[in-house]
Amino acid sequence: MSVLALAGGVGGAKLANGLAAILPPGTLTIAVNTGDDFTHLGLTICPDIDSVTYALAGLNDTVRGWGMADESWAFMAALRDLGGEDWFNLGDRDLATHVLRTHLLRDAPLSAVTADLTARLGIKQAVVPMSDDPVASIIESDRGDLNFQDYFVRYQCAPRFHAIRFAGAAQARPAPAILAALDDPALEAIILCPSNPILSIGPILAVPGMRERIAARRVPCVALSPFIAGQAVKGPAAKIMGELGLPTTPATVATHYAGLIDGLVVDDADLGAGAPVGVAFHGTNILMRDPADQQRLAREVMAFARTLAQAGP
Ligand code: GDP
Ligand code: CA
Repeated sequence: MSVLALAGGVGGAKLANGLAAILPPGTLTIAVNTGDDFTHLGLTICPDIDSVTYALAGLNDTVRGWGMADESWAFMAALRDLGGEDWFNLGDRDLATHVLRTHLLRDAPLSAVTADLTARLGIKQAVVPMSDDPVASIIESDRGDLNFQDYFVRYQCAPRFHAIRFAGAAQARPAPAILAALDDPALEAIILCPSNPILSIGPILAVPGMRERIAARRVPCVALSPFIAGQAVKGPAAKIMGELGLPTTPATVATHYAGLIDGLVVDDADLGAGAPVGVAFHGTNILMRDPADQQRLAREVMAFARTLAQAGP
């Protein structure tokens, strides 16, 4: 049996890491958001691919919450001394990824480069960019249209969110390994990790054909809520929902994924809210503090998906 998971960065990576650990090697495909990708100082930077990769390789920094553990910052200090742009932090170890990726991209598409880099780190599951074609998330805000990293890092999500659009999406195709995962007769479930529904899962679903193929595939599709008791665990998801006039509840998440998901895993604290028609809720503790939490939740998500499969469409 095989599983397809959709993930953004750090939040998605936690569940993806749990799924990677509990599923047999070679049976999990993780489709990762590349709407955050950008070129900085000549380097191709893929923040969400790196968050997932570092988590699965056990190289992620769990205290800082992003980037690599045991990081040092000599490059940034030297860059600052030279008067270089220093609003985007690049750790010394992390830098090796960006330099090597940029070099390898001269001869191969991003999905091949990502397969190569993740294999070198010993990762036994498939980490796949949503597309080999460039798609850039643009935030429409009260300060105008902002490139994603300007909104997210430079301005720390302070501008008021109006909408998001995906430059280049119309010409993009899902990466070949994602199409293969969706066509795999052994596919058992599709999991939408608890990533930001708008900023992280939104771009993946905006790749033409992605949403339609997921909806058309008659296997259980289960999402996880990024909200617990009205709060995002991390990041601007709750702020953005507020700016859109939407409550930070599982019902909002379920409605956002309407037509796509059969089930939503929510925190026990939110079970009272009630599920919209057509979506089954499963309540549990959805906070992942460590790999044990990630694996426990991944097992529950798979068990929930299997009950939905038995229940039938
Ligand atoms: P980013 O690209 O690094 O910002 O990461 P994602 O979009 O993948 O993840 C951000 C989302 O993950 C936020 O909306 C968080 O609320 C959610 N998140 C982070 N940690 C957890 C967790 O332990 N449990 C759940 N359910 N959601 C989480
Ligand atoms: Ca991201």
